[in-house]
Amino acid sequence: MGQLNASVRYSLGMEASTAVETATATEPVFTLALTQDQKDVRDWVHGFAKDVMRPAASEWDEKEVTPWPIIQEAAKIGLYGFEGIAQFFADPTGLTLPIVNEELFWGDAGLGMAIMGTTLAVAAIVGQGTGEQIGHWIPRCYGTPDEVKVAAFCASEPNAGSDVSQIRTTAKFDDTTNEWVLNGQKAWATNGGISDVHVVIASVDRELGSRGHAAFIVPMSECKGITQGAKVSKHGLRASHTADVYLDDARIPADYVLGGKEKLDERLARVREGKKAKSQAAMQTFEASRPTVGAQAIGIARAAYEYALEYAKEREQFGRKIIENQSIAFALADMKMEIDAARLLVWRASWMGRTGQRFDNAEGSMSKLKAGEVATWATERAIHILGGNGYTREYPVERWHRDAKIYTLFEGTSEIQRIVIARAISGMHIK
Ligand SMILES: Cc1cc2nc3c(=O)[nH]c(=O)nc-3n(C[C@H](O)[C@H](O)[C@H](O)COP(=O)(O)OP(=O)(O)OC[C@H]3O[C@@H](n4cnc5c(N)ncnc54)[C@H](O)[C@@H]3O)c2cc1C
Repeated sequence: MGQLNASVRYSLGMEASTAVETATATEPVFTLALTQDQKDVRDWVHGFAKDVMRPAASEWDEKEVTPWPIIQEAAKIGLYGFEGIAQFFADPTGLTLPIVNEELFWGDAGLGMAIMGTTLAVAAIVGQGTGEQIGHWIPRCYGTPDEVKVAAFCASEPNAGSDVSQIRTTAKFDDTTNEWVLNGQKAWATNGGISDVHVVIASVDRELGSRGHAAFIVPMSECKGITQGAKVSKHGLRASHTADVYLDDARIPADYVLGGKEKLDERLARVREGKKAKSQAAMQTFEASRPTVGAQAIGIARAAYEYALEYAKEREQFGRKIIENQSIAFALADMKMEIDAARLLVWRASWMGRTGQRFDNAEGSMSKLKAGEVATWATERAIHILGGNGYTREYPVERWHRDAKIYTLFEGTSEIQRIVIARAISGMHIK
């Protein structure tokens, strides 16, 4: 088949697999037509979300403990685990990962985060680890279907949330034992303290600010100095475990620094000589992971929209269905439009990340910002449409509203996303 330009391919609605096959390195293709594989994965995950997650959601939200049986069920069908995640990542269009996340979080966000929280650590290992480290540590993040494990990514600290340059956890190298020694306190770590594999961001040289940071693997099964602090009781995502993590002379072998010690020493030497750090690479990694988080927010928003639509078509007041009032029908129209708009931004950014496009306008941040704000707004609208029922725990929309709020906070708050976008479009150092 001859080469078509991207807009013609888009309007023809070509199957993604065909379109991607015809793409050249200089002319990547974007299409909204899902491949049969993508549709199959979507329907498979939707089935799990509907049959396993939805019926269990309220119970685990109330209990606020890690839903190990649900994670195990996901592992048994291959939805949770190394092979599953590798298959979702492998899709050359980049759309499978957001599709999977949207369906899971449509099922339930707390359970969804219990299943997907491990990918934060996995993404750091894939992004920064050597081939050997990836092969060794990623299977350990997931365990096996008979003995499932989770993993934690620990960057935030009590005084370093948005401003990661303030990280105080230190990693010092002990030449006598050939070990790293970590000390500090991590805050709000998803799966913190219940994981074996903890990826910990620590400062190797405080004077270099965030350019002196490195990522370390601290496995609880091998290291006495890592312990769980207080478990956090939360507004939403209550089935997902969040806790402080303490590092108290936590000793790990030299080669547990991601990327290897030699590479780290070279990088630090370059920075000390005043050479430019590879901040663009880090920026690209964040931009590529943000759409996945946005897709989770869209799953919650879609759940609330669908529920409110059905309710409005059933509920009668003043002798007519409440949806027959324009104010209700228009609210639902706006919800549908905003959710679809957010999904388009998420899919565009996912496709850009997977096909190696430059995020010149911080398109990844745009997608996460829009999706998080749409989810918070749409779930509030859904409560409103359900009236008094929406405010009670007899109906799921209040849970979805509680779950949605975190999407304007973690993985960079809405203000931080706006700063990133503003800097990208202006080239100025906006504060
Ligand atoms: C449920 C949950 C799970 C989490 N999971 C993890 C995890 O697995 N790993 C991890 O490392 N962290 C995790 N976090 C931490 C999360 O990433 C941080 O909470 C988040 O980055 C915000 O940091 P902060 O809470 O310190 O807020 P702050 O940085 O103190 O911000 C407070 C407010 O000030 C605003 N603000 C800050 N700076 C500026 C500025 N320059 N301009 C304008 N406004 C600004 C913010 O937007 C926000 O509204 C999690 C948090 C929660 C609640």
